Amino acid sequence: MLLLAHGGAGTKKPSKAALKKLHESLKKGYGILEAGGTALQAVIGTIAMLEDSGLFNAGLGANLQLDGIRRLDAAVMEGSRLQAGSVIGLEGIQNPIKAASIVMESPHKILTNIGAKVLAAAYNLKPLPDIDEKYLERLKKMTAGEYELVRIFKKHFSTVGAVALDSNGDIAAGSSTGGVALMLPGRVGDTPIIGAGVYAENKTGAVSCTGRGEDIIRIALAKEVSMRMIEKTPLRAAREALKKILEIGGDAGLLALNRQGKFAIIHTTEKMPGGYAGKDGIIVKEGFTRVRPKNSHMR
Ligand code: ASP
Repeated sequence: MLLLAHGGAGTKKPSKAALKKLHESLKKGYGILEAGGTALQAVIGTIAMLEDSGLFNAGLGANLQLDGIRRLDAAVMEGSRLQAGSVIGLEGIQNPIKAASIVMESPHKILTNIGAKVLAAAYNLKPLPDIDEKYLERLKKMTAGEYELVRIFKKHFSTVGAVALDSNGDIAAGSSTGGVALMLPGRVGDTPIIGAGVYAENKTGAVSCTGRGEDIIRIALAKEVSMRMIEKTPLRAAREALKKILEIGGDAGLLALNRQGKFAIIHTTEKMPGGYAGKDGIIVKEGFTRVRPKNSHMR
């Protein structure tokens, strides 16, 4: 059994609170596995806790789109049945990861806000509280000046994701985000696109991505890594795919895990807070393996 989680690829040093929350969420998710829960349940439990914390760009802490509305994206996939579900632009619901898992069991695989909200209401998912004045003030300070906003758009992400391996040998992946800063209303990143932001197949591996969705989508990064895992270790597969992301001018990070319990936590960005929980305990760090561009002066 194994569980990995991340709090977004980026340049910013993660706060102590964020690292602590990652630790707590790994503990909770691993507890689900220890109690005989599935990889899918562990992924959902871990991500929901991060969504509830308000410390990451997901759920309660999600970014606003340029019209001041939070539209949340999330996806889950599990490797034994190749089942997947996702929500795009979900408004007013705190745990889009749960909504995505409900969509997965419905006749559909992807729902945008209008349908996802109906399902979320039917399953009594927690509403997302309205944004208060204090939050808006904090946001204004954080994003003061156009330059700063552009910099954040290019370099800072704090999406959340997880992958898990359960006692049956099944794997699953999930991801949840409020998107990026400076988004036009309606912008959709990689997170809810199955094969781009997440992918899980028992025969190959589970992958959860973070970073600039616009680039991740172009090479369907999660599936790219998973397919490379047919013949290669997660680390090797992920490294090769992230080099491809760098070649197209992107930045990303990801979690990759196979059924044998081999895994990688890897990123092109300076940081990617995250960690793993296994039988030997829990490790959380602000960054893991970094893939650097060949000619960094050209970027
Ligand atoms: N991948 C997310 C998106 O493009 C952002 C992130 O990972 O922080 O929406």
